[in-house]
Amino acid sequence: MRVPFYDLAGLHDGLGPALDDAWRSVTEQTAFVGGSYVSTFERRWADYCDAQFTLGVGNGTDAIEIALRGLGVGPGDEVIVQSNTFVATAEAVASVGAIPHFVDVDPDTLLLDADSVAAGITNRTAAIIVVHLYGHLPDMDSLIALADAHDLPVIEDAAQAHGATYRGRKAGSFGAAAAFSFYPGKNLGAFGDAGAVVTDDGELDARMRSIANHGRAARSKYEHPTLGMNSRLDGLQAAVLNVKLDQLDSWNEGRRRVARRYDDAVAGTAVRGTATLPGVESAHHLAVVRHPERDRLREDLAARGVGTGLHYPVPCHLQAPFAECPRTALDVCERAATDLLSLPMFPHMTSAQVDHVVEHLVDAAGGGAG
Ligand SMILES: *Cc1c(COP(=O)(O)O)cnc(C)c1O
Repeated sequence: MRVPFYDLAGLHDGLGPALDDAWRSVTEQTAFVGGSYVSTFERRWADYCDAQFTLGVGNGTDAIEIALRGLGVGPGDEVIVQSNTFVATAEAVASVGAIPHFVDVDPDTLLLDADSVAAGITNRTAAIIVVHLYGHLPDMDSLIALADAHDLPVIEDAAQAHGATYRGRKAGSFGAAAAFSFYPGKNLGAFGDAGAVVTDDGELDARMRSIANHGRAARSKYEHPTLGMNSRLDGLQAAVLNVKLDQLDSWNEGRRRVARRYDDAVAGTAVRGTATLPGVESAHHLAVVRHPERDRLREDLAARGVGTGLHYPVPCHLQAPFAECPRTALDVCERAATDLLSLPMFPHMTSAQVDHVVEHLVDAAGGGAG
């Protein structure tokens, strides 16, 4: 048996006719950029996230950049970012001319906590980006309390957390703004690049809407009072997202089922899971485990037909563009980069596929309780 790391084609089984219809109607209406499919999706995504506004944009990286620009973050500012994230989080900070200030994460969750964020706050700090890595949410109460005490806006990087909750509240409803990616491999993915920024602040939404559309004034096609960019959601992508959004909760439930099986299987073995906090319902974008001989384990699993991934083996502060950025000690992050491994995770994994992964993972990992 072979179990791929991800099976995107299988995810779309059964959706073919609905997706074909969606594409055909967008083509007939030539609603290619903006238009009714985009506004429908924007409304539905705001509702899904328990938020007031959604702005559809070109991709998740732009979503973070547009949120930062909308909040007035720019040159001379520092933004607190964890270093164990996809490079896009730090990249977006640099693209507005601000400086990422890298901080470490909690050793059990690998997510930000209030102490690690506090260690990175300086008099230049202008915002905090909280990444819901792997689909898990950190202790949002203490992070928001810390941010409020310093009068700093929080931006959620929710690119891996569509539908995740913390104490019953949806990812995307905590920060001043939240960025989502609909890259095809995310929990909710388009048929290409797409993203969104979610907020409860109407004025921020209006500013971001203008920035993403060439700095255009709300009601004047020819006036561009601010310097903007072009990052808009395509009608075709919005139509695909409208079809796939109906499946998101059941897909997340499928991921949860797989995650529970993995958690049970690794208990008492040399493989460690990544903890979720009480009160968190993860979106389980990735199933990340940790093992001291990660590379050997990865090869053994590959030989046994199990595909795996690495998220992420090189932290942002060790990437060339960010080598000079300010940072606190990053011991937890650097350690995790060497021992983490992402197991196959997709909603429609069969029981036999999960059994295969578990059997070979436990066998290849060897050893007793680690
Ligand atoms: C995917 C991802 C992004 C970037 O999204 P794109 O749509 O690829 O630009 C940003 N942050 C995190 C944590 C991601 O996983």
